[in-house]
Amino acid sequence: MSQKVTVAYGDGIGPEIMEASLKILQAAGADLILDSIEIGEKVYKQGHTSGIREEDWEKLVNNKIFFKAPITTPQGGGYKSLNVTIRKTLGLYANVRPVKSLYPFVKTKHPKMDAIIVRENEEDLYAGIEHRQTQEVYQCLKLISRPGTEKIIRFAFEYTKNAGRKKITCMTKDNIMKLTDGHFHKTFDKIAQEYPEIEVDHWIIDIGAAKLADTPEEFDVIVLPNLYGDILSDIAAQITGSVGLAGSANIGTQCAMFEAIHGSAPTIAGQNIANPSGLLMGGVQMLNYMGKNKVAEKVENAWLATIEDGIHTADICDEQTTQKKVSTSEFAEEVIRRLGQAPKKFTEVKYPEESKKIQIHLSEHPAVEKTLDGVDIFLAFEPREPNLLGEKLVAATQAARLSLEMITNRGVKVYPKGNPLTFCTDHWRCRFTKNGAEVIQGSDLVDLQRRIVEAGLEIIKTENLYSFGDEKGYSLGQGQ
Ligand code: NAD
Repeated sequence: MSQKVTVAYGDGIGPEIMEASLKILQAAGADLILDSIEIGEKVYKQGHTSGIREEDWEKLVNNKIFFKAPITTPQGGGYKSLNVTIRKTLGLYANVRPVKSLYPFVKTKHPKMDAIIVRENEEDLYAGIEHRQTQEVYQCLKLISRPGTEKIIRFAFEYTKNAGRKKITCMTKDNIMKLTDGHFHKTFDKIAQEYPEIEVDHWIIDIGAAKLADTPEEFDVIVLPNLYGDILSDIAAQITGSVGLAGSANIGTQCAMFEAIHGSAPTIAGQNIANPSGLLMGGVQMLNYMGKNKVAEKVENAWLATIEDGIHTADICDEQTTQKKVSTSEFAEEVIRRLGQAPKKFTEVKYPEESKKIQIHLSEHPAVEKTLDGVDIFLAFEPREPNLLGEKLVAATQAARLSLEMITNRGVKVYPKGNPLTFCTDHWRCRFTKNGAEVIQGSDLVDLQRRIVEAGLEIIKTENLYSFGDEKGYSLGQGQ
């Protein structure tokens, strides 16, 4: 059945690899009706800071499936990443990146690697909420939500089950970020109990990334928050042999976008030498998503047969295995010639007749009692003298209903009884808490802030401190 797909040819090597990929997909019987849009550099430079024209959103929403070549994001301020905007606007919460070695035909130190990275795609530090608050300090907010986390973790388990895979590894930094990454890890452990047939483990991201770079064959499916997933998936693709080989699917509840993991490679653009494999594998993921599994299988097997016959683009050429070095368009012709063939040395790919669509149902969470315990007031204060600031604050807030508990600088407690060796910036977090069992309200916080401002101090932001039932919704100061 023909199906409409929005297509963008992108920048740099984009048009060459898109043309090659579409030629192969259509020759295999994909039966795609192409609805093109222009995105990227030209559109940015015409003054659309998001890299896409307003009217093209309608096509993306109506067609629901988007096949996208890489684009160039102009350097310098003012331009927003189009990829991040599309993922978030269309709710494409799951980024799936299979990373598999093609040994011995593509050189790699990791011949047995065959992993799938499932990356949360909408939140974390990619919320893009940044501020410069003082002369010396910049801030980026890391947002981890309960529904966002549950969606990606349930997706990872369902994906693992449908793909017949056996194990999921979660990676976070919850030894440091106990609330945000801690929530991600806890949700993983909780949902894992619903899938006793799937083996699970958790790694702290730093050693987990090292382990992946060293023995990637020990991993099966890996689920991670956005930033770690972004970094890890590039490392993983690179160590399979080339960033030009991996595809990427961005899946939402209504829409989906398919692409290569690499960028627009401007230095090799226009030379007909780029490897179209990454985008083609994005296309295979797209066909599976559309339920055209048998066409997907045909394309992937012909592609594997081409690679094992030693037909290679420049990026994967190697004296021992390359029989013929080909251009982008010649590579496409060679894959088309092999459509209908199975690889002889690689394992033949077999997809089930039908794909199971992943439907996520979020759990119910009864609201827990939320109590206001106090407030963190952030101040800009030039002298690097915590005791001076502490004394000023105590004097200014004596008659308030909350009292100063501590001051931290970049998270480390510096008052009371700080260590003189601690380096301080001009950015101070001053924690005020209620006295004993007293009940405090928003108006008490306003009164506190008024006293601080009247003492001539500069407030740059505040964060309320809440407890949820018995659990504190805020971290302690380091050294508190
Ligand atoms: P890149 O992925 O474009 O290139 C990295 C290296 O890999 C280069 O040496 C390049 O020549 C090579 N390479 C990449 N794809 C290849 C292919 N298919 N065949 C052969 N070699 C290939 O990364 P970059 O140079 O950091 O970024 C270039 C531009 O791409 C930037 O403007 C960046 O913002 C953009 N970018 C876009 C996307 C996207 O649209 N999804 C993703 C990443 C980067």
